[in-house]
This record gives sequence, structure tokens and C-alpha cells, in this order.
Amino acid sequence: MNTQPIVAAPKEIRLRKAHKLLEILWQDGHRSFLSCLVLRKSCACSNCQKAQQTGRLSLIDAEVGIERMEVSGVSGLQFHFSDGHFRGLYPWGYLRELADCYGLGESA
Ligand SMILES: [Zn+2]
Repeated sequence: MNTQPIVAAPKEIRLRKAHKLLEILWQDGHRSFLSCLVLRKSCACSNCQKAQQTGRLSLIDAEVGIERMEVSGVSGLQFHFSDGHFRGLYPWGYLRELADCYGLGESA
């Protein structure tokens, strides 16, 4: 988490609830689509991190959605998932990393 490059806040963020997708338009013009499931699985809060480190199985509903999101200062986003989880903070750099790995990207 500390080695991430500094990524500027995106130009545009849209939550497409019907498709359970988060659409992000980055400053460099790249458009990413991230599924709510990927975001939920990638939660980096202390609980989820601990579960990952100890190899504890965490059960995540494949149908998980995002109820709402909040901008957390200037640094990133916080999601309120449909399973009630909302502890994770997603810095822009982390979101960009996820988008590059798991996103359904498309260059603008
Ligand atoms: Zn978490």
C-alpha cells in the first residue's frame, strides 16, 4: 500500500448499479470498468487484509453490489457494499492498479 504511485483523482466516476460496475474516466483519458465483486474482493481494510494474510477463507457473495460511494478526502473512494461492508478505503492509485489488472478497460 505504501509503494503505490501517486495517481491524480479521476475526471469522472460513475456507479452503474444495474450492471454492478464502477466506471472511471482517468486524467489520461483511459476509461476503466471495475466490477463490484472485484472491488469487494480487493478490500484492503485491516479485517480483509488479515483474512488474506492468514489464508482465512472469506465468503463473498458473487452478486455483491455497491449501495453508495463516498469520496474520502482527496485520496480515494470508500464504498458501501450491499453485504454491509464499508471499511475499506480505495486510494486512486489502488483503483488504477485494480483497473489495470482486472478492469474491463477501453482506451478513449
Ligand atoms: Zn474489508
